[in-house]
Amino acid sequence: MNEYSETVQSLLRPEIHGLPAYDPGADSETVSREFKPPRVIKLSNNENPYGLSPVAAQAIQRRLDQGMGRYPDPAGKELCRVLAERHGVEHRRVVLGNGSENILELLCQAFLGKGETVVAQTPCFGLHEIFPLMMGAGVHKVPLTETFGFDASRWRQALEGPVKLVFVCQPSNPVGTVFSREELQALIAYTSENALLVVDEAYYEYARLDPAYADALDLLRHVNRPWIVLRTFSKAYGLAGLRVGYAIASHANLIEALHRVRTPYNVNQLAQEAALAALDDVAHLEKSVSLISQERARLTQALRVAGFRVAPSHTNFLFIDTGMDAIYVMRQLLRAGVIVKAWREPGYDTYIRVSLALPADNDVFLQELIRVQNRV
Ligand SMILES: *Cc1c(COP(=O)(O)O)cnc(C)c1O
Repeated sequence: MNEYSETVQSLLRPEIHGLPAYDPGADSETVSREFKPPRVIKLSNNENPYGLSPVAAQAIQRRLDQGMGRYPDPAGKELCRVLAERHGVEHRRVVLGNGSENILELLCQAFLGKGETVVAQTPCFGLHEIFPLMMGAGVHKVPLTETFGFDASRWRQALEGPVKLVFVCQPSNPVGTVFSREELQALIAYTSENALLVVDEAYYEYARLDPAYADALDLLRHVNRPWIVLRTFSKAYGLAGLRVGYAIASHANLIEALHRVRTPYNVNQLAQEAALAALDDVAHLEKSVSLISQERARLTQALRVAGFRVAPSHTNFLFIDTGMDAIYVMRQLLRAGVIVKAWREPGYDTYIRVSLALPADNDVFLQELIRVQNRV
């Protein structure tokens, strides 16, 4: 059958020719079918093992009972209103996304053109690189220091030239570490007012447990320059399957720009209802954040005792130097039914990123990792 490969290739925008697809890792069904492990434990997407709040589940059921034949509110007015109120900003400074990754995409579509420059971190959340490349922009990645810290001189250097967008992942995915208030302030100072500063706080609800955490919104609230802070219901709130994230911007005109490139009904009705209900169920959020944080301390300690280097995490995942080839480790763990993410960026090819889960599942991971370690 003629697949018109050359035609398809020649129809593509040149930016898409070599564009990598986002790698979500293995899925549970495939692993189950291929290796037939006693159980599959998925620790590769930083999901909340406690799932969504039962109050949110009820809100979804109520909405289903009312029928789903109508389009959702195109701008999610009620959810934006509640989020605006909670964060003490005007509702016109809030936008919803089909996950916060949708907002990353909108930002790139609205602001980036061919040959322009984005500054991001390395190691890097995949989409901070893929979406700019999709628009034909170049990504300058600033590394962390040896000890996973803020490299002031490299950030300053990177931000000297003409830069359009700056992506800061606070806390970092995949490392889990944070920049201090002073460091974030320095970074803000280095960033030209002619650039848009984007702070991706996907793990905010975990990080804020630490009273010293540099809350990006608190820091930027009084800074008059273009900025936008991204948060999500996918991680601590446990709504990953529903797809809803949001952003708060320095100015309403920034949000208006995103509305122009957004599909009109990007956040579905169930997601809007569930997010509203989830915001009210503070007890559920606090319970999962607290249980996960306890596991984080316990597992970090156990891994270090076993001789692994573990980055100090402020999130629901750990970045672990296995001392072995990460792809080999990932494959060995897959056979045991444990799905982790092998890091593929240069300099980090012995690292895996592992989501924290229920205590028993974390124990299985630890046991299996030690088993791999003992085999080599
Ligand atoms: C998970 C994640 C997101 C995307 O989350 P959504 O499910 O799209 O809301 C965005 N940024 C970072 C750094 C993440 O880890």
